[in-house]
Amino acid sequence: MSGRRLSGVGASRAAGVGTAVRYASGPDLGDPPAAGDVDVETETERFEAAREAVHGAIDAERDRVADRVGESEAAGFDAHRQFLDDPQGTDAVGDAIESGLPAEHAVDRAFEEFIRRFEGMDGRTAERADDLRDVRDRLLRRLVGVDREGLADLPAGSVVLADRLTPSDTARLDPDRVAGVATVAGGRTAHAAIFARSMGLPAVVGVGEGLREVAVGETVLVDGAEGTVVVDPDAAIREAAGGDDVAVRTEPVTTADGTPIEVAANVGTAADVDAAVGHGADGIGLFRTEFLFLDRATPPDEAEQYEAYRDAVAAFPDGRIVVRTLDVGGDKPVDDRDRPAEATSFLGERGIRRSLGPDADRFETQLRALLRAAATEPGGQLSVMVPLVSTVGEVVAARETVASVAAELAAAGEPYAVPAFGAMVETPAAALLADELVEHVDFLSVGSNDLAQYVMAAERGNRRVAEYADPRQPAVLRAIDAAVAAAAGTDVRVGICGEMAGDPDLTELLVGLGFDELSVSPPAVPRVKRAVSEVT
Ligand code: PEP
Ligand code: MG
Repeated sequence: MSGRRLSGVGASRAAGVGTAVRYASGPDLGDPPAAGDVDVETETERFEAAREAVHGAIDAERDRVADRVGESEAAGFDAHRQFLDDPQGTDAVGDAIESGLPAEHAVDRAFEEFIRRFEGMDGRTAERADDLRDVRDRLLRRLVGVDREGLADLPAGSVVLADRLTPSDTARLDPDRVAGVATVAGGRTAHAAIFARSMGLPAVVGVGEGLREVAVGETVLVDGAEGTVVVDPDAAIREAAGGDDVAVRTEPVTTADGTPIEVAANVGTAADVDAAVGHGADGIGLFRTEFLFLDRATPPDEAEQYEAYRDAVAAFPDGRIVVRTLDVGGDKPVDDRDRPAEATSFLGERGIRRSLGPDADRFETQLRALLRAAATEPGGQLSVMVPLVSTVGEVVAARETVASVAAELAAAGEPYAVPAFGAMVETPAAALLADELVEHVDFLSVGSNDLAQYVMAAERGNRRVAEYADPRQPAVLRAIDAAVAAAAGTDVRVGICGEMAGDPDLTELLVGLGFDELSVSPPAVPRVKRAVSEVT
């Protein structure tokens, strides 16, 4: 139907039109070909080869998890092996091949049957359906050769439709080839959405089940400003989505009555740093360093991190560059250290909790790179801040670690500087303790994405509770106000780097609350600078 409109949550202000492609964690097979066209022997061999390869992959993963996490966590993979070897399953695939299906369709059909049976059972047995899906998808990926690499190599003008995307899936997208992204699940402040926004990709998340009905190959408009996906849009709809361009201002701005407000950018990659400069940001208000760690087998070492931080400092010789130490956990898993799920959940060992606990070694390496980059000449002023603070003790301990790293560098005769030190206000605890935190920091930065999720008990990536995880909720605004009020009348600067800072409709409110700095995704900088200059 022409002009069919689906609603979701806009994740960026941009709009784009393109051809729908579908990304799934398992490959999309399309309709099975007419039965009888296959060579049974060849297809059976293909299936056996895939089964053997998947066996190898499961064994390797099992060993890795046993090594790093523990034998009981690794035991989960034994069930996967059993499914792979179960004669009922292999016979069912064999029968489907005999009936004339190619191996991938035979696997799909045979597993579908078993998955449905498990889903019909009670409790824990029903959960086994997920294990079966996992094994099926592994087999299909081997058979069809589709994997995440495909995301990096889409035809120009693609609109990616997916159930969900992880931050690292999103990072693979090439903004020059992808016209837009729409997902069934997800919320505006999920990290995949944040990443799409900073890449300037038109994105709508949390569209719901209706998105599954959009066919591959259809023309689709993704309108991030409206939060809509329109299938087969007419010329008028396309034009209306064009949006207004706002001129880039490279100079700092003040309100209409002369109060200077810094408009900085949130970045995660070198490309973001370039985009921040290009959009006229005054500096970097949030460098999400976890993006340097995502989607790779080994973490970046001190030298690689040093280069990334030094380049950011060099890009803003007159600005502030606020680098946040590693904030792993929640929806930002880092693959190289396997941990049980409860250790990395939003309410688990995330951010500073890990840096002062299991990831202490990584924290020190990162601080060494940061203190060395802080000495870069000529360069802007590098500051360090720590995420997910919930006690004063964490801030004190983190500063002690900075001091001991500085002493080590001094003893080694390495050039370094001790950066300004800040804490993020992202938990209700930090907002309630802000009057004590200001005695231990040079600046505070409000992370309204997490603050909203924790104040409102509403997951940031869950579209069903998007209206709760909204930073405009009165309870969240009170928590924000508490942080700003604690800094008022002290030397402590206070900024905000959650996604609400990039909404020009909220600029007046945030300036009125008393923020010194708004840090926003690079494409949002010109609009927010314009909004600041109109506030009295
Ligand atoms: C926030 O929580 O608002 C924030 C800026 O940090 P992140 O989105 O990376 O969790
Ligand atoms: Mg956060």
